[in-house]
Amino acid sequence: MAVRENLSKVSTLALRSRREGLAKLLPPLVEVLRGSLMERYLTCGKPYCKCARGERHGPVWYLSVTLDQSHRTGSTVPPGQVEQVRRWIENYHQVKERLEKISDINRELLRRQKNQDKPKKRAEK
Ligand SMILES: [Zn+2]
Repeated sequence: MAVRENLSKVSTLALRSRREGLAKLLPPLVEVLRGSLMERYLTCGKPYCKCARGERHGPVWYLSVTLDQSHRTGSTVPPGQVEQVRRWIENYHQVKERLEKISDINRELLRRQKNQDKPKKRAEK
């Protein structure tokens, strides 16, 4: 988990422009992929293949995706797709990180708004 900046000292104007900047910098949302790319050594299933004796094939690139707490899926990635998959995964993390930052800013802005709306305790005249 990244260290969260303390936003309470940053001016509202700066927070708003920071939020604007974060939203502008988002990578194309159609080019995202959640998962991890890893190298794997596989068995082919042929009983007399060398891989059945422990000498597995590979490495091959493999995309592993967690679906929920007990389910995973994945598939091999051909060499020609590796760069694209890598970039899309990177985009996914960037989008997620920026959404998280925007969300932090919005929470801080909401807090300030709430404090402003509070009726002043000081009695007028
Ligand atoms: Zn084999």
